[in-house]
Amino acid sequence: MNEYIIPPGFKVIAGPCSAESAGQVMECAEALSKMGVEILRAGVWKPRTRPGGFEGAGMQALEWLCQAREKTGMKLAIEVAGTAHVEAALKADIDILWIGARTTTSPFAVQEIAEALKGCDIPVMVKNPISPDLNLWTGAIERLERAGISRISAIHRGFSDIQESVLRYAPQWEIPIELRRRMPSLPILCDPSHMAGQRGLVSTIAQMALDMNADGLMVEVHPNPDKALSDSRQQLTPHEFAEMVSSLRQHRAIEETDSACLAPKRNELDALDEQLVDILAKRMDIVREIGEYKQMNNLAVLQSDRYQNVSDKLAAIAAAKGISGQFIRSIFETIHAESIRYQLEKNKTQ
Ligand code: PEP
Ligand code: MN
Repeated sequence: MNEYIIPPGFKVIAGPCSAESAGQVMECAEALSKMGVEILRAGVWKPRTRPGGFEGAGMQALEWLCQAREKTGMKLAIEVAGTAHVEAALKADIDILWIGARTTTSPFAVQEIAEALKGCDIPVMVKNPISPDLNLWTGAIERLERAGISRISAIHRGFSDIQESVLRYAPQWEIPIELRRRMPSLPILCDPSHMAGQRGLVSTIAQMALDMNADGLMVEVHPNPDKALSDSRQQLTPHEFAEMVSSLRQHRAIEETDSACLAPKRNELDALDEQLVDILAKRMDIVREIGEYKQMNNLAVLQSDRYQNVSDKLAAIAAAKGISGQFIRSIFETIHAESIRYQLEKNKTQ
């Protein structure tokens, strides 16, 4: 197997979903550390959606991890979900903690962890909550900040979604984009394993994450994924992990010459965007006139049939032009909602 494949400056955390035995942890750590991975992840206590599954090896797993650290020099990262976990992790001198997706969902649990961490400035990573609620995510980060934790990063691991998908959890890239806008100095790593939910898709998602400027990756790697006690479908063998890392395309920083090359196209876009706003303003004038007619003639503001027909027609036109119909539908949903709001407001003030 390749050795030292991790490029300098590339932050990658890898290891099994769960620590299962001393041998499994050691085998995984040795393979990963040979490749240059510096941080070993492993679940010690596993939050399972339903009871009866493997709930983690608990305290003994901390010993296995410490043995692996001793042998390889890797740093250790584990999940904590409450005070007892934090205390045990600190006692074992674990290097990095993370808060799991199910825990981020609960402000009570996050607050409890934050209190237990007061006074010890250990790095903490916060996974996104299972539900696509950015405020829960930033709220958890703020609770840690208030407890004096200064090295916080976020892990984007995807969101539950009612829509059918080949992915286990939907990336909803717009959410980490907005997180980046609100907290520009916060490192955001991506966990492609939980998003993909199956081995064959992990590298595609990892590449997307790098294309979206992720600051690093957390990847589940197991010496024998088919026999894994949790998340067996999505874990990579060390060999598959090595192949994935060497195939990832990393980006260089944008330079002045790039900006100069892109400037003409960006100017064109700026002009088109201004035209879009102009058209929307004209559209709003007509919305106002229609609203006045509806009010004078005692007609309801919402005319659902017409909206459905318009939305179908525009989605079909978009598809014929090679643009996603769903994209156009969501834009017109927003435009329509604003038109309705405008007409309702007008009625109220007249
Ligand atoms: C995990 O990392 O194994 C895990 C349980 O992740 P999440 O909290 O993202 O489901
Ligand atoms: Mn897992």
